[in-house]
Amino acid sequence: MPLYRDEAIVLRTHKLGEADRIVTLLTRHHGLVRAVAKGVRRTTSKFGSRLEPFTHVDLQLAEGRNLDIITQAETITPFSSGLGLDYDRYTSGTVMLETADRLVAEEREPSIQQFLLLVGGLRAMVSGERTPSQVLDSYLLRSLAVAGYAPSFAHCARCGEEGPHRWFNPSMGGMLCVTCRVPGSASPAAETVIVMGALLAGDWPVVEAADGRHLKEASTLVSAYLSWHLERGLRSMAYVER
Ligand SMILES: [Zn+2]
Repeated sequence: MPLYRDEAIVLRTHKLGEADRIVTLLTRHHGLVRAVAKGVRRTTSKFGSRLEPFTHVDLQLAEGRNLDIITQAETITPFSSGLGLDYDRYTSGTVMLETADRLVAEEREPSIQQFLLLVGGLRAMVSGERTPSQVLDSYLLRSLAVAGYAPSFAHCARCGEEGPHRWFNPSMGGMLCVTCRVPGSASPAAETVIVMGALLAGDWPVVEAADGRHLKEASTLVSAYLSWHLERGLRSMAYVER
């Protein structure tokens, strides 16, 4: 069987047979990969806890007919140990893993930008420099943008007219002008729209200067935007306070 190496973030795992697991990985060079870790559930496993969700691992894999097989795993960064004790950071991190899993739908389609975004996002989540919701919202908006669902905040999402605009609608792709607005659109505070643009751009001074209620409103709208663009809602989002 041909071997290859890659690095990856472990997104999730599930049991296979008596002692094995199927591990879903977002790799740097091969996009989403589902691979078998043999014997990983035995206490004597050579993999130890290296194939648990949140771990950034360096891997060697053998190409299989259906699923590849993990033959070696070395930990690069165990992000879970930095998140484990903080409920908000842990649950927000879980939303990031689930989002990456859902937005990178194609297996083996390289998506290096999504990989780098996730590694950077987890690093920021662990570092504690910013609040969990700021890290999460920024990650979600950027990940959506990379997946081709960039929301429009400055211009009308429908006609392109320069803003600021008052109406926000996830199904239309962001802000709408008074002519294009559709029933059921939200009308967030102007400051909230600015904060969402800053979260997408990673303009942290603007985010840090923002008022708590505008950040909270932004979180709600980012969640709505994400839910609209995923076919099913995220299970993990229910555990994050928005
Ligand atoms: Zn318009």
